[in-house]
Amino acid sequence: MLGHAEFPPGELNKIMADKSGKIPSNNALNLYVGRAKKWGLIEAESNRRCLVLPMHFFQKGIGDETCDEHGIRPAKRFRP
Ligand SMILES: [Zn+2]
Repeated sequence: MLGHAEFPPGELNKIMADKSGKIPSNNALNLYVGRAKKWGLIEAESNRRCLVLPMHFFQKGIGDETCDEHGIRPAKRFRP
């Protein structure tokens, strides 16, 4: 199971702003995401709207099981 961390449009750009407050472009962001994939920090299906985190991050409570970006819906569960 993986953790999905979804971001509203432009939100990840703001998070990735450098110390001077410069917000990276979407192209720059795609580059960062690609780099993080190469380093194994995030899963291959990640993009700038949703970072898919490996299990060890998910276990720390980061990310979600469901994701609109990747079309993952919550499983139907029977509740007592
Ligand atoms: Zn996702």
